[in-house]
This record gives sequence, C-alpha cells and structure tokens, in this order.
Amino acid sequence: MYVHKDFMQHKSIGLVTYETKLFWKSEHMEHILVTGGGGFIGSHLARFLYQQGNFVRVVDVKFDGYIQERYCNESLELDLRTWENCLSATKGIDKVYNLAANMGGIAFITAVGAEVMHDNVLINNYMLEASRRNQVKRYLFASSACVYPTYRQTDPNAKGLKEEDAYPADPDNFYGWEKLFTEKMCEAYQRDHDLDIRIVRYHNVYGPEGTYAGGREKSPAALCRKVAEASNPGTITIWGDGKQTRSYCYIDDAVLGTVMVMKSNYDKPTNIGSDRLVSIDELADIIIKISGKYITKKYDPRAPQGVRGRNADLTIVRKKIGWEPKVSLEQGLEKTYKWIEMQCKKASTIAGLRDHA
Ligand code: NAD
Repeated sequence: MYVHKDFMQHKSIGLVTYETKLFWKSEHMEHILVTGGGGFIGSHLARFLYQQGNFVRVVDVKFDGYIQERYCNESLELDLRTWENCLSATKGIDKVYNLAANMGGIAFITAVGAEVMHDNVLINNYMLEASRRNQVKRYLFASSACVYPTYRQTDPNAKGLKEEDAYPADPDNFYGWEKLFTEKMCEAYQRDHDLDIRIVRYHNVYGPEGTYAGGREKSPAALCRKVAEASNPGTITIWGDGKQTRSYCYIDDAVLGTVMVMKSNYDKPTNIGSDRLVSIDELADIIIKISGKYITKKYDPRAPQGVRGRNADLTIVRKKIGWEPKVSLEQGLEKTYKWIEMQCKKASTIAGLRDHA
C-alpha cells in the first residue's frame, strides 16, 4: 500500500470563483474521503475540499492519470474491489464521496459490460457496507445520466431529463444499469441502516486534466485531441452523423454542485449538468474555432454514438440545492482545448526525441 501525506501544491486552473469559500472555511474541519481521487472529477473535488480546510484522504487504484498536482492530506493506493481495503479507506472518516469506478466514454462503455458491472458492483457494495460499519456520517454516490431510459432519448431535440424520468428503467448500457442498481442499494442502506445518502447524476463533465486519449475519453476531450493533432488545414472524423445531441458541464461547476448536494438536506438523486443542448457537430465547430485552424469534418456512421439526444433538467437542483452551472461551453472548452493541445505537443516532442535517440 502506498501512502503519501500532505500533498499540497498550488496552481489555479479554475474558472469559477467560489463565493461560498469563506462560509465553509468557518465550519469545523471534517474528515473526508474521496474515492477515485486519482481520476478526473475526484482529483478536482479533493483539491477543492482540501482548500476549504478539510482533512482529505484520497484513494485510488492508480495515480498515473493526467493530474498534474494532487491536493490532500493522505493519498492511499488501494483497490476498492476488496472488502479490507474499503474498511481501511473509510476508517475515521465523516463524509465519503464515492467516485471510484471502472468507466470511460461511449466507445468503452459500449464495448465493455461484464468487467464494468463486476468491478463497480464490488466497489459500491463494499464501500457502502464499510461506511456503515465505520459509522460514516454522510455518503455521496457518483451516479450518471446513463441511468435514464433509452426510450426518452431517441430525439436529437431532447427534452431535459428529470430525475423521476429514470423509471420505468431501461438504461442504454450495462454501466447505466449498474449505476441504477447502486442508487437502489443506497436507498436500501438509507432505509434499513439510516446511512445518510446523497446521489448526484453527472451529465458529461469535462475540463482540463481529464482522460483525452487511450479509448476511455469522452466526446469533448476526444474532439479537442483530434483538432489539436490535425494539420492546418486538416480534417477530423466525427462519430455518427454529428446530429446526436448532449449537454456538457465544466468541471469547476460540477465540483461546486457536488459539494453543495453533499451539504444540503436533499437526499434524493440530483442531476448535475448543463441544460444547454448542442449537437456533436456544434461541439466540434466551437473547438475548431478555438483552435484557429481551418478544419473540415468527415463522418463515420459505424462508430459508437450512444443515445440520439440527451439533456439535463435542472429544476430540482436549482430549487432544492440552489446550484446551476456558471461556465459557458465556450469558456470551458477554451481551457480544456489549451490543456489538451499542450499535452499533445509534449507527447509529440517526446516521440520526436525518441525517434532521434
Ligand atoms: P475517472 O475514470 O477519471 O475516475 C474514476 C477513478 O476511479 C479512476 O482514477 C480509477 O483509477 C478509479 N478506480 C477504478 N477502479 C478502482 C478500484 N477498483 N479501486 C479504486 N479506484 C478505482 O472518471 P471521472 O470522470 O472522474 O468519474 C468519476 C465518477 O463520476 C465515476 O463514478 C463516474 O462513473 C461518474 N460519472 C462521471 C461522468 C463524467 O462525465 N466524467 C459522467 C457520469 C458519471
């Protein structure tokens, strides 16, 4: 087991000013666990909670992602598919943010079913029970827009999905079924064991330091990478016909929404996302404009594209939590594109040096 104490370097890549910062700082220090803290959302969340003055333990099965600097008091390399590891991860903890999951973008979750369900059921099953045994005061589960049924997502002019729309259930993929099952397991622990539960359903969170290559990346990161790697003038390939639609939430907004849900008294599943619907074509056009390159698009109709249209309804989160996203897609993509472009340049410099070695 790898343990590193007091990781704390400063670097701001954020866009949102956290006006609630002073209010939270005045509260007593909480002992917080962020699982999946080596990953994209988990590492940004841990940084935010650490900067609020909490004691933050992060746990992940690996810390070799794109995160440039970690912020926490304790960093444990543990596989949470194991009962004993979940027990030690939750020891002495007041609040658990359970974000660890075997997951990826549409290509990955379309292709991989058994491994995703196997791993995530184990993680969530052991994390819930270990949190109960260790008397954790509050537990947040990171669910997904993938829980929503396919039959409500057949039209590109998608109506925002309300939390209640998850039933009758028919998620598009195995990953979504596992998330829905775990939501129900959280409900059972709340009813039978009084475990205080919060559930966020993320809708396409994007930003710097997320996976952008290797097969697990999501559409904003994949498109940023394709544009950054394209010649000028050049061409990129869009999956599907480009008319499929989604909404996208910038990481800083998602982190603040997650913490606000955890702090609130609202204990039902809550959407965390954006309600600005864009087609994949429009998303690509924004990124191309940011790049300043002259890029044409071609289409691959055989590539996986998921549901036809998906948008978030934010009525509940606005009303019950007082949160809504603040960062525009153009602002968020600008930050994301610049970061991915920098990673691509670094990778090609290293490859060039290797070729000349
Ligand atoms: P991510 O892949 O960057 O982070 C997940 C982390 O979990 C990874 O670092 C991974 O190593 C870790 N993990 C996997 N298996 C583990 C294990 N056995 N033990 C310990 N750690 C393990 O993904 P993310 O985008 O940061 O997503 C965080 C959470 O939010 C996940 O639960 C995901 O399903 C959910 N979610 C994310 C999005 C999104 O748009 N990013 C959308 C819906 C739901």
